[in-house]
Amino acid sequence: MPNLRTAAQICDHGLAPPERHGALDKVAARYAVAITPGLAALIDRNDPHDPIARQFVPSAAEIDHQPQELSDPIGDDARSPVDGVVHRYPDRVLLKLTHVCAVYCRFCFRREMIGPGKPNALSQASLAAALDYIRSRPEIWEVILTGGDPLVLSARRLRAVMKALSEIAHVKVVRIHTRVPIADPARITSDLVRAMKFKGKPTYVAVHVNHARELTPRARAACARLADAGIPLLGQSVLLAGVNDTPEALGELMRALVECRIKPYYLHHGDLAPGTAHLRTDIANGQDLMRSLRGRFSGLCQPAYVLDIPGGYGKSPIGPNYIERRAANGGERVVVEDFNGRRHHYPP
Ligand code: SF4
Repeated sequence: MPNLRTAAQICDHGLAPPERHGALDKVAARYAVAITPGLAALIDRNDPHDPIARQFVPSAAEIDHQPQELSDPIGDDARSPVDGVVHRYPDRVLLKLTHVCAVYCRFCFRREMIGPGKPNALSQASLAAALDYIRSRPEIWEVILTGGDPLVLSARRLRAVMKALSEIAHVKVVRIHTRVPIADPARITSDLVRAMKFKGKPTYVAVHVNHARELTPRARAACARLADAGIPLLGQSVLLAGVNDTPEALGELMRALVECRIKPYYLHHGDLAPGTAHLRTDIANGQDLMRSLRGRFSGLCQPAYVLDIPGGYGKSPIGPNYIERRAANGGERVVVEDFNGRRHHYPP
């Protein structure tokens, strides 16, 4: 089966009823669509609320834009000193190598910038200018390859970029953000894994996974190839209505990640990307879910719940607060809440 890229292909493969064809056509004309055969096979055609379908099968709701939604919801453009680079925090930059992904998530925060029809790679001249920028800033300790999805690149192209970064003395760490081990696990070949590694410069891979079912045996094997090569794996997930917004679904996801040697790192609050209101939750709901993890699931299963502040101001943790400071006897006492909701003075 080829990647499904059109409304007709999606309907023909039973992922949407024929009467939705016209509406899906309109969405596909506006936003990129691609569903890999592996992910298409995971979708339960008999479940109208299937959590995998909600992430990848277009919905007519995507045309319904809310006034507060933004074409650049996390403010990449405001923090982009040269083409392909986002410099938001002092010690690290994003390097956006491609605008192409193996699969297009319906909630994507960069949906206005990615997909066919957008410039699909940095030109050689822009890449050279981006590398010059990184070379000229000694404060840049970490480079994060993102996109699009950097692991859609050939091993040869990826190796060339990694080599250039490895030659910059002040860049100590490279991090790669990707959905490929989930969407197209066969792409994680030994050649690609070798291309990610450079002696003396650790590479971390942050794998984007939102539901435990995405970690199929093939996806687990792809992650194992990375972990066995000595590449530390981090998990990043997006909190999505109807996908992982129950204590059971979220806990199961976090455990599945840890079982695959992927340390849950971020749980992102849904960004204000256009046409994604049907997939967003509210922050209070996210905080309740984080409380549901605390104490009931291993410390390894606790991601940081974060919000990317619109305008390019960066991520802030927005998880529940367990500490209260109270004025007492002219001073201050701390009250801390345990995972059962009981409150304790500290010191006792
Ligand atoms: S893989 Fe990442 S960049 Fe690509 S569509 Fe999904 S969220 Fe967007």
